[in-house]
Amino acid sequence: MVVRRRIEVGGVVQGVGFRPFVFNLAKSLGLSGFVRNDGRGVCIEVQGGETAVRGFLDAVRRDAPPLSRITVVESFEVAPVADENIFLIEHSSPADGNVTPVSPDMDVCDDCLREMFDPADRRHRYPFINCTNCGPRYTIVKKTPYDRPFTSMSEFAMCPACEKEYHDPENRRFHAQPNACPVCGPSLSLYDARWHRTETDDIIKDVSRMLREGGIAAIKGVGGYHLACDALNAEAVERLRQRKIRKEKPFALMAASVADAREIAHVGAAEEGILTSREKPIVLLRKKTEVAGIAPGLDEYGLFLPYAPLHHLLFADGAPRLLVATSGNISDEPIVFEEAELKERMGGIADCHLTHNRPIVWRCDDSVVRVFDARGISTVRRSRGYVPSMIPATSKFPEILACGGDLKNVFCLTKGDAVIPGPHVGDLMNAEAFRAFKGSIEHFKSVFRISPKIAAVDMHPAYVSSNYGRSLGLPVVEVQHHHAHVASVMAENGLEGDVIGVALDGTGYGADGTTWGGEFLTCSHASFRRAGHFPALRLPGGDKAAKEPWRVAVAVLHEVYGDDFFNLPQAGEIGVERAERVVSMLKAGVNCPASTGAGRWFDAVSSILGVSHFNEYEGRSPMLLESVADRGVGGALEFSVGADGAVSFDAMIRKIVELRGKGEGVPKIAALFHNTIAKIVFDLCARTGAEAGLRDVCLGGGVFQNKTLLAKAAGLLERGGFRVYLPKNLPINDGGIALGQAVVAATRHAAGRI
Ligand code: ZN
Ligand code: ZN
Ligand code: FE
Repeated sequence: MVVRRRIEVGGVVQGVGFRPFVFNLAKSLGLSGFVRNDGRGVCIEVQGGETAVRGFLDAVRRDAPPLSRITVVESFEVAPVADENIFLIEHSSPADGNVTPVSPDMDVCDDCLREMFDPADRRHRYPFINCTNCGPRYTIVKKTPYDRPFTSMSEFAMCPACEKEYHDPENRRFHAQPNACPVCGPSLSLYDARWHRTETDDIIKDVSRMLREGGIAAIKGVGGYHLACDALNAEAVERLRQRKIRKEKPFALMAASVADAREIAHVGAAEEGILTSREKPIVLLRKKTEVAGIAPGLDEYGLFLPYAPLHHLLFADGAPRLLVATSGNISDEPIVFEEAELKERMGGIADCHLTHNRPIVWRCDDSVVRVFDARGISTVRRSRGYVPSMIPATSKFPEILACGGDLKNVFCLTKGDAVIPGPHVGDLMNAEAFRAFKGSIEHFKSVFRISPKIAAVDMHPAYVSSNYGRSLGLPVVEVQHHHAHVASVMAENGLEGDVIGVALDGTGYGADGTTWGGEFLTCSHASFRRAGHFPALRLPGGDKAAKEPWRVAVAVLHEVYGDDFFNLPQAGEIGVERAERVVSMLKAGVNCPASTGAGRWFDAVSSILGVSHFNEYEGRSPMLLESVADRGVGGALEFSVGADGAVSFDAMIRKIVELRGKGEGVPKIAALFHNTIAKIVFDLCARTGAEAGLRDVCLGGGVFQNKTLLAKAAGLLERGGFRVYLPKNLPINDGGIALGQAVVAATRHAAGRI
């Protein structure tokens, strides 16, 4: 009895070896038919005995290639075709309106590594080795369909040996678009500090030796350049800091192996799992030993394992087992990914430049994640390895461009079931970042064939991202910043009714035109109500106050103590003269905007405790405060909540000053402060929940990157009978708000309100 079935597979199934897998599977079962890519994924028809066809259907899901991500398999019986006796891989049919996923860049696979280290293999020591299961994808794609002519590999004509592999469905390089070998593919080149080409027999050995000797190397990777040096050579690390003009901001590390990572950091089973995953993100790991100059004052290192073949070759040739591998960029600019850019913008930093001629079409920074207790992974930055994967949609979306915010910008495009967050772009006040933002949006629109009908933006009147969205000539939906934080968490968890939302961050434009950032909301996808908030503090000097927390400390202390503030030891620590200047600004009400930003309260307390008076990089003061906090300390300080849900910290600030005056240790006071904030989160949720009859709490905002606060607040809430929801794929910081904007816009659109 001959049957024929049509099988449609959706998800990431193109450019990941899916068609050859299907071809070989059909062949092994003696089935005829065809497979082809279509606009949705892969379309298959198989014909043969009933048992064989059933076996095929089971195996398609079960044995799918490692890089594929199947989201849907639909199958139905069709009429058998007479006289069909072969199985064919057909040419792609043009996309029909649906969104075809593109695979992210993946680390080199074990099969390729084995070949690369096999002296008998024709790709022995070839740094651009790849196959259908590994290699660059997103960063080399110019347009879709994902075929070699539309990638940056188009400039390399395959040699006969590579061509043969590429066309052989039984070869593991069948249709591997970046397929290459030393004869026909890209190659490395080495330049010295002044960009003179270095002629050498072995570039990789030379660079490994330079690194061993304390040199700084710029190394072209998958999504951009790294700056590397021996992490255990304090002098080299210090030199890199001086040349990069980066005093304390932590450097990421690349360790040769998990065992090398364990020398300096705690690596539990969950951390090991994510370190060794195909995505190879930077994982934040608790320090075991202090390595000078890497992450001063913090309790974690950011560390990743080698992911490009070149990284493995450097370690094999004796590069130091722990390397600094920091993004090649200037302070807050996006990562440098072009040679000309590196020459022009980053001259004088590296002692040598290890580069190659496989162009990076789209830059992609390393991703950053942390294991957060039993709840799994929390993402700090979602980029290489994850972008441009879609995230699961809980509802149907119209075509929306959500522009995100101005800090840690990530945009998001939606269409139907497809929700596609863009790469980490960075801070848009930076001209280079804004260019990257616009370019990436155009690229995503063309690759995924989405033409937005709605622009969703932050309601901020002056955000660069918002004004870009407003300039497109589309209907615009303006979304309140903290509503977007919460709506994003709701969407990722499939919550559609009303919830309690807690959004703690540094800054966001409030619905009343003031700056918010310590917000308790009751909200749905469509709207929100402000149920409570942190006290407003004043930011003497405006934006300057975020960089100089001592200004906020003066404002907070002067608010509580009046001019008696000048008798406190804090006035002396901060410097009486500059404190006086700030106090006169406060009294005159000049350039002292009010803000309820929770992050600013962490800044203020960090300064009051003498932990940190300056933010050389964003979040430094709160991170240092968290690092010193003694996690064993229990109990909380006093605070009060008004009838309108406004918190008052006056009692807490008095207590903190008093404890410090009595000589109580900073680690204990810092812990009490964390406990107090966690208790406020609980108390306000309890009060809001009782009023509104809600038990679901969504936590959002960058302040919750503080793992101590997050663990304590989530623990209190859960013990108090609340269900706590966190983001699943997206960052809890502003990198996650674009999805929230899209959700709010889609809901208003469905209600006919736009
Ligand atoms: Zn491979
Ligand atoms: Zn070749
Ligand atoms: Fe925010």
